[in-house]
Amino acid sequence: MGIASRLPRLRRRRSGEDIPESDPHARRISRRQAAAVCGVLCAGLLGATGTFVAVRGHGGGPDADLRRTHPTGTTGATATSAPPAQATAAPAPDDGKPHVIGDGSTSYTGPQPHQLVPRKLKPGEKPPQFVVFSWDGALENDDHLFSRFRELAQTYNAHMTFFLSGIYLVPKDKRTLYKPPRHGPGDSAIDFPTDQHIRWTLQQLRLAWEQGDEIGTHFNGHFCAPDPGGGGTWTTADWESEISQAYAFVEHWKTDTGFTDIPPLPFDYATELAGGRAPCLEGQKNLLPAEAANGWRYDASSPGDFQVWPQKKDGVWDFPLQLMPYPGKDRQVLAMDFNFLYNQSGGDVTQGNPAKYPQWEREARQGYLNGFERVYNGSRAPLFIGNHFETWNGEIYMQAVEDVVKDVCGRPGVQCVSFKELSDWLDAQDPAVLTKLRTLDPAESPDWSTFLK
Ligand SMILES: [Zn+2]
Repeated sequence: MGIASRLPRLRRRRSGEDIPESDPHARRISRRQAAAVCGVLCAGLLGATGTFVAVRGHGGGPDADLRRTHPTGTTGATATSAPPAQATAAPAPDDGKPHVIGDGSTSYTGPQPHQLVPRKLKPGEKPPQFVVFSWDGALENDDHLFSRFRELAQTYNAHMTFFLSGIYLVPKDKRTLYKPPRHGPGDSAIDFPTDQHIRWTLQQLRLAWEQGDEIGTHFNGHFCAPDPGGGGTWTTADWESEISQAYAFVEHWKTDTGFTDIPPLPFDYATELAGGRAPCLEGQKNLLPAEAANGWRYDASSPGDFQVWPQKKDGVWDFPLQLMPYPGKDRQVLAMDFNFLYNQSGGDVTQGNPAKYPQWEREARQGYLNGFERVYNGSRAPLFIGNHFETWNGEIYMQAVEDVVKDVCGRPGVQCVSFKELSDWLDAQDPAVLTKLRTLDPAESPDWSTFLK
């Protein structure tokens, strides 16, 4: 079995078991807990969802580009203190004041600060080495891993992509607001959050956006094989429903939670949401048309590919998880924590032999660095690293990613960006240049002075 297919297999082997607390994405919720009443809020949510889908003009393409005016590296600016200079296509008046949207869950505060300004490669120029660190789930819980990596990004001038699971803004007692495809109302393969965790997560989402990180989506209920209603079985209409609800949970958290002491998020999710990663990397084929219909820029759900320059699928940039040379072995591993875990503690064991942790941590770090060095000194294809906020094997995978951020983000020519920023950069290039770049093998280093003439 290829490594690319191991992630779903890992999920399969887990289902139905008692999953350790430390795995934020693998705990099953009992059907008993799912029993609840769909009240006024539920009807309100669904009505609002339909409305938003009908009127939403998701800001992909030129609109989004126009709104990105703040260069990476400026400091101190917040969304409200940095009135847009060129925001000619903004969804709200650009008078420098926040504009509250809907029930006050979100607001338009101007273009996102600190964004990469995409620039076309000049003839003979070596491409930047883009590195994208991305996080699936993005719940700030008692482990405080969201804040840890957000602060790390800020310290190392990196931007990251946080793929929020929409239900992480839905209180447990409102769970039936979620109508998952092919499941009963309120069902979910991941736990609904505590009120405290929702509060913390809202704070991290705000700070992340203000410092230039991207808030993407990991969708909602995290249904994977062998669940017969898992994402791999969903139709495009199922994905449309899931996407609408991912928007709605962010756009209606204030009504859903009843919290009155937290300000609106500083962004308009209807225009900011530009891409996602499907749970367990399942279902991309039917997901892509739904994403394209919503104007999304990219999809990060492909279950694995070699490190080559990206291309579009169905009009959406395809950013797969990538295969990296596994340290000391003649094989490759997907650049995700699951896959190191699988190779190291023997499959679905999230807390393996502690005596092995130092070695496994070195292997994970070196695996990521192998992938980095191969393209940094080779084709310069963008590097994608995906992780969950988890504490498996003594948090060694978290530490490995942290070490890689510290090691690579400050190197000459390296830019640690969000998937959205990378989409901006790719869209700014001459298509013929990208076609040429895609002919390179990962480790192939051409004479850059003549390669891109
Ligand atoms: Zn996940």
